[in-house]
Order: sequence, then C-alpha cells, then structure tokens
Amino acid sequence: MSEEKKSGIIYECVRCGTKVTSEELISLPEIKCICGYKVFKKARPPVVKQIKAV
Ligand SMILES: [Zn+2]
Repeated sequence: MSEEKKSGIIYECVRCGTKVTSEELISLPEIKCICGYKVFKKARPPVVKQIKAV
C-alpha cells in the first residue's frame, strides 16, 4: 500500500480561487496569490479516493 500524503495540501485564494500547493507557497518569497491577496483557505487535495459504486 502506498499513500501519497506528503504534498497533498492545497490552498485556495479566497479572492480569486487560485489553487496553490503548500510546496509552492513555501517556495515563494512571500505568501501571496498572483492576484495580490494573502488570504488562503485550505482546499481539498486533488487525490481523491475512488470508490466504485457498483
Ligand atoms: Zn488570488
């Protein structure tokens, strides 16, 4: 079993909705969206468990 949990945190700009990973935020000189806003909320990670509804 392999889980991809390490870099799963996604943040979303509350103003424009641009999604940024935590890694990208860390690599930035300033935690700031491309729109200039600095408020992010946590968004769901892109990796979603797929459940077969059969
Ligand atoms: Zn933004």
